[in-house]
This record gives sequence, structure tokens and C-alpha cells, in this order.
Amino acid sequence: MATHYESRAQRDGTNWTAVLAFIFFHIGAVVALFHFTWPAFFAFLVLYYVSLSFGIGMGYHRLLTHQGYVPPKWVEYFLAICGTLALEGGPLSWVTTHRIHHRYSDLDGDPHSPNDGKWWSHLLWMTVGSATNCTPEEYRKYSPDLMRDRFLVTLSKYFWVPVVVVSLVLLALGGLPWLLWGTFFRVTVGWHATWLVNSGTHLWGPRRFETTDMSRNNRLISILTFGEGWHNNHHAFPTSARHGLAWHELDISWLGIRTLKALGLAKHVRVASVDAKYRPPVIRSGVIIEDEPDQQEVA
Ligand SMILES: [Zn+2]
Ligand SMILES: [Zn+2]
Repeated sequence: MATHYESRAQRDGTNWTAVLAFIFFHIGAVVALFHFTWPAFFAFLVLYYVSLSFGIGMGYHRLLTHQGYVPPKWVEYFLAICGTLALEGGPLSWVTTHRIHHRYSDLDGDPHSPNDGKWWSHLLWMTVGSATNCTPEEYRKYSPDLMRDRFLVTLSKYFWVPVVVVSLVLLALGGLPWLLWGTFFRVTVGWHATWLVNSGTHLWGPRRFETTDMSRNNRLISILTFGEGWHNNHHAFPTSARHGLAWHELDISWLGIRTLKALGLAKHVRVASVDAKYRPPVIRSGVIIEDEPDQQEVA
């Protein structure tokens, strides 16, 4: 029997842009290992944090997708630019794909469920058809809020520009080692960390809430992604800006949002509590209708 990947590849064709980018960056990441210097490694750490915590965790995911808090526009745009540095597409396609994931989590229509194969959910889903490039109808249906924002629409079109600019700066400041570690190694490791949220946190780890999907809480993936691994908590309360709900669930991106709040740069921060009563959503015609009755708003 053909795998899900084979049948989709046959039907939708191969996304060569994605495949070639994956190969190119993985080669660059391996080459980086032969050009190790401590300053280059430090550039990797800083940019890894900026792109995955500021960018993906605080920006693309908790703010743009789920609106877990409200910052001033300039903070929102700064976080969105940080998000482009992860090279996971522009905010429009990332948010739309992720909203579709929440709508159909582990059901028919989920873009990346491990039900269709572990490797499918990790990266193969991006290598066929236009999985990472949604249709105009999908953008209008799932992300009308982003579509109204001219900055985010333009940034989505030129999402690769900030990476190029940062790469040129790295090359100018620290030569080849900084470029290899700050861009190629950093983007590749960041990809796998983010992809583990789509694969690993739907496969491995305990479940606190009996959600209708297979989501789990995974400590290792949370460390790699600055808190995105508390994925069962997240599926139970998607709009909560805090994902690590228990005191021992380290959630660096939540600390970032709390810092924004302390600085007066985040309002209407939504937070679920660890002992909140979870009521599963209704699944109607194969679609998850989310309802979050126990969400608290922290003024
Ligand atoms: Zn999920
Ligand atoms: Zn989410």
C-alpha cells in the first residue's frame, strides 16, 4: 500500500523550493561543524533565541495565530520580523497553516498529523503540493485579520529578506564561521525544533488534558523551543499566552510575554491555569469547534 506521502506526492507533485532549501541548509549545517569558533557559536545562540522565542513562540504563534495578548503595533511587527528569521515562511502562511491544524487536529484535513506517518508530520508534509503556501481562499477564510494588515501582507511576500540581511551582517562581522553558524546551522536546528512540535508533541509525553487530539506535553521539546513543547496544555487552551502551566514547566516565551507586560508593552494577556476545568470542544462535521470557558484574562 502506498504511504500517505507517496499518494500525496503523486497527486499534488513535489514542492522543489522546499526540498532544495532543506537539502541546502542541512549541507550548510554540516559544513558549519568544521568551522566552529566560540564567537560563531554565540551568534548561533543569540539568533536561535531571537528567531524561535521572540519570532515563532511570542510572535507567530501566541500573538499572531492565537491572540493571547495585545502589544503595541511596533512590538507586533518587530516580533513578526524576528519570526521571518526562522525561515518558516511569512506570517500569513504560518498562521493560516497553524489555524488549520487547530481546526482539524489529528483529524482528516490536519496538514501535519502523525496519523499520516511520523516523518510526514515532521517534514514530508512540506515537500508536496502547496502545503506551506495556502490558497487565497484559505487565507481569506482563516486569516482575515492578517489580510487586513498591509505590513504583515508585505512581510509575508518578502519573508526571506530579513534572513538575507542578517546573513550579510554576519558575514561582514565574523566571516564564514558566523554565517555558517548564525544562519545555516541555526535555521536547520530551529526547523527541527519547530517540526518536533508537529511530530513529537503529538506522539511522545504525558497528557494532562483529555483533548480530542493526540497532543502531549514534552519537556525536551519545550527546552528546544522555549516553551512550545507544552503542547497538550496548548491544545486544551489555545489562546492562553502561557503554555507551561505548572510551576515546573519551564516556558521561556511566557517569561518574555510577562516581561513585555511588566514594561507596559502587553495588555489583555490571557492565561489558563493548571487546574482549570477542561471541557473538550465539539467536533461537528469533522471540524473542531473550540470553546475555552475557563480562560482567565490577566488585565
Ligand atoms: Zn498540535
Ligand atoms: Zn497553536
